[in-house]
Amino acid sequence: MSKFKCPECAYVFSEADGDEHEGYPPGTEFASLPEDFACPDCSVRFKEDFEKV
Ligand SMILES: [Zn+2]
Repeated sequence: MSKFKCPECAYVFSEADGDEHEGYPPGTEFASLPEDFACPDCSVRFKEDFEKV
């Protein structure tokens, strides 16, 4: 599974860990996040901006 980093801040979405605080359970694929997914930390970067790490 992969991790995706917000280019604006230090937030990283890990597919293996998900983000339970945001309602995404472990194993959530980044591709399955809603198209309007915004960075939970800075809110100024969207799904298409995230970089695979
Ligand atoms: Zn961010």
